[in-house]
Amino acid sequence: MAKNNPWHQAKEQLAKTATYIDMDPLIHAYLTEPERIIQVHLPLRKDNGEVVTFKGYRVQHNSYKGPYKGGLRFHPEVTIDEVKALSFWMTMKNALIGVPFGGGKGGITIDPKTLSEPELERLTRLFTRRLAHAIGPDKDIPAPDVNTNAKIMSWIVDEYEKYLKSQKSNLKNTKDYAQAVVTGKPLSHGGSEGRTEATGLGGSYVLIDIIRRLRLSPKDLTVAVQGFGNVGYYVAYYLQKHGFKVVAISDSKGGIYVPSGIKNVEQILACKKSNGHLQDCYCIGSTCGKHYKEKVQGKDITPEKLLTLPVDIVIPAALNTVITEKNAADIKAKIILEMANGPTTPEADKILEQKHVTVIPDILANAGGVAVSYFEWYQNIHHETWSKKEVFEKLKTKILKATDAVWKTQKEYHASMRDAAYITALKKFEEKN
Ligand code: NAD
Repeated sequence: MAKNNPWHQAKEQLAKTATYIDMDPLIHAYLTEPERIIQVHLPLRKDNGEVVTFKGYRVQHNSYKGPYKGGLRFHPEVTIDEVKALSFWMTMKNALIGVPFGGGKGGITIDPKTLSEPELERLTRLFTRRLAHAIGPDKDIPAPDVNTNAKIMSWIVDEYEKYLKSQKSNLKNTKDYAQAVVTGKPLSHGGSEGRTEATGLGGSYVLIDIIRRLRLSPKDLTVAVQGFGNVGYYVAYYLQKHGFKVVAISDSKGGIYVPSGIKNVEQILACKKSNGHLQDCYCIGSTCGKHYKEKVQGKDITPEKLLTLPVDIVIPAALNTVITEKNAADIKAKIILEMANGPTTPEADKILEQKHVTVIPDILANAGGVAVSYFEWYQNIHHETWSKKEVFEKLKTKILKATDAVWKTQKEYHASMRDAAYITALKKFEEKN
């Protein structure tokens, strides 16, 4: 098996879990491969007249528990094996968190930063037209992931609505129906309160609950976060609010390490927005800049170096396959909160287990996103609007229920938390039998 291939990683995890439980071989066989893989060819005329082509994918892994559900990723390193793995993890996550969805994922192999906004919009709309026959509120419901956001979701809704109209569907209200084709929409376009914060907030609920069970206190714990997009920012923000000491943050270009503690994560975001990157965002009072680096005793770090800093908790919140057999032995943290999907390879898992590192697995840690995606879809379908307070309360209930189930399974099977999360998810498939 090729090392560090996310799809092989996913299949290995499934096979390992199957050794713990007496899984129906038919269910095992269903989960071993995606139900359907859609690959599309996407030619785009750029603003300067040049024509470039991209590849797009939607992998519909499993619909046993409901319509396929999972994000869309626009990134230069998107491959079919990555999307297959991500779709499998969605199947597991949705079962674990208890939402009535199967698993799916999609993406385009593109660096969206190389496109103008009109180019990105044209490409997204073409991708939507190519997928329109296969997606829908009761078929497959995409959402944002790396480099996709609420605005991109609203283009998809608009294009999908045009598709429905072109099909002369008998729907009473095409607009309302079209809205539920994706989640993670802007509030003005049928989005839910709290969806933007949901993944990071959900991760903070999981971590706070686990450290309580480990009899640790937030104020004694230092945290390093790799990735400062939607997920990385909100998890850092909520953990800091809860008293954890955030000492390091990085994005793709680099990061900052302040051993005495980064004072205000919100301020770092504002600095990143104004500079375009977070390097040099060393802050004192209300101003930030490179010149404060020495005063705050800060250090520039790479995203790779961040993972091996002498901290209590490391949070990968960017891409998959970043903790491998090459760096696992160097990790000094005692807890890893996997906010990214698939950040740790099975080889690295073995090393971390030997080092007694508590790895809080992705399918639990980042499940808050899909939980609130479900709430958004539910509100769309039932024409309801919930307040942010209501959404956060429901999110907390769902997350804590799943965390409790994983914790108890871990004890029952003497398994790692990852294996326990998979066992808990897979047992839900048996339940439906
Ligand atoms: P995003 O596009 O908002 O942010 C991605 C961040 O990762 C950016 O800060 C980027 O600079 C950084 N990054 C990219 N390449 C990097 C590299 N090589 N090294 C270090 N940093 C790098 O994406 P997001 O929505 O925050 O998603 C982050 C992770 O969380 C992904 O693995 C995604 O699948 C997972 N996730 C997201 C959601 C969600 O609701 N958005 C839900 C569940 C899981």
